[in-house]
Amino acid sequence: MTDVKKEKVCTSMDEFTEKAPAIEDQMESIAGRRREQGHCVFENDGKEHNLNLVDELSRREYSISGMCQTCQDRMFEEPRPYEDM
Ligand SMILES: [Zn+2]
Repeated sequence: MTDVKKEKVCTSMDEFTEKAPAIEDQMESIAGRRREQGHCVFENDGKEHNLNLVDELSRREYSISGMCQTCQDRMFEEPRPYEDM
């Protein structure tokens, strides 16, 4: 058996979902930059951003929001108390 299925960690072949320009503008104003392959929308915050997306769900989320694995983890796994906002 030579047909080894390679685990895809690179996101560069994935397409971003299409959004209305107004939504793109709003996302840009929130995140700081537009979605761009190989980049995280929050990367201007000077923190570390891991673009090796761990699974299909993360890749799908990246195609929608442009958030890297680090930001997705921060966003979805550590619920922030609303009083802090
Ligand atoms: Zn990020």
